[in-house]
Amino acid sequence: MLIDGRKLAAELGAELTGRVAALGAAPGLAIVVATADASTAWYVRSLLRTAEKLGIAARRIDLPTDADAQTIRTALADAANTPGTAGVICQTPLPGGLKLPDVGMAIPTDVDVDGASPVSLGLLASGSADAFPPATAAAVLRILDHEGIDLVGRRAVVIGRSNVVGKPAALMLLARHATVTVCHSRTPDLAAVAREADVLVAAVGRPELVTADFVKPGAIVIDVGTNATPDGGLVGDVATGAVEQVAAAVTPVPGGVGPVTTMVLMSHVVTAAEGH
Ligand code: NAP
Repeated sequence: MLIDGRKLAAELGAELTGRVAALGAAPGLAIVVATADASTAWYVRSLLRTAEKLGIAARRIDLPTDADAQTIRTALADAANTPGTAGVICQTPLPGGLKLPDVGMAIPTDVDVDGASPVSLGLLASGSADAFPPATAAAVLRILDHEGIDLVGRRAVVIGRSNVVGKPAALMLLARHATVTVCHSRTPDLAAVAREADVLVAAVGRPELVTADFVKPGAIVIDVGTNATPDGGLVGDVATGAVEQVAAAVTPVPGGVGPVTTMVLMSHVVTAAEGH
């Protein structure tokens, strides 16, 4: 079975429209961009379109593509201090080899709607609900909840340990009482470890790395990967056609985790504006 992320995103969007209307004023989302990367530009355009449909006042703040860490931190802090701002996000890749944690600290926790700050990740790791998790990791959990998967005591395997996806997804699965294994590029016999999973999350960035022999019959497979194909298309980390024959359910790419991530991000903006 393929899990329809677009349908879930539409349901989440319908719920958000009502919550935005109840706010009485459009919540602001600042998107700080310091890259000319084409896929980032595409993603930002799609965020702006979705925000507009929901009644969220998203604005793009462009910085020079050679901006240094201090310039980016100042822009993030200024955006957070602008009246009406409920959320601030910082697009990657960043100039000069900077990583998100180098600048993310400048985003105050209450408007850090994509969990970019090491403070937010630390709060997530310590089991606090006072920070927003990265939207992609939260989307993984949202999909599992929507599918009615009881995570208590189940074996979850996450392939990938980045701060934005693998690590926070693993922490969130752990908080929901799954028994979690995190794999990465140095994990020997990856397929054998993955086959132990009731819930398999692939967040790698390697086209169709996860083949049918990685999957226990009846497992749920969540494909976070988005890999550009030479013909301008998109392929995930999972060989969906083959894996579908073994798994109980798998998220497709495109149309799986991606659209849910966007809506979860928007839901964080609305939650921040509601003052929770
Ligand atoms: P990342 O920072 O490059 O991390 C990739 C992780 O995969 C690393 O932990 C790496 O291990 C591991 N890895 C790489 N090759 C491997 C292999 N052959 N076997 C096992 N593990 C391997 O990437 P990311 O930011 O987490 O993103 C992962 C994927 O998700 C990308 O395709 C990205 O485009 C996609 N993504 C999608 C969304 C969405 O909304 N759908 C959002 C964000 C990201 P090491 O740590 O050992 O290097």
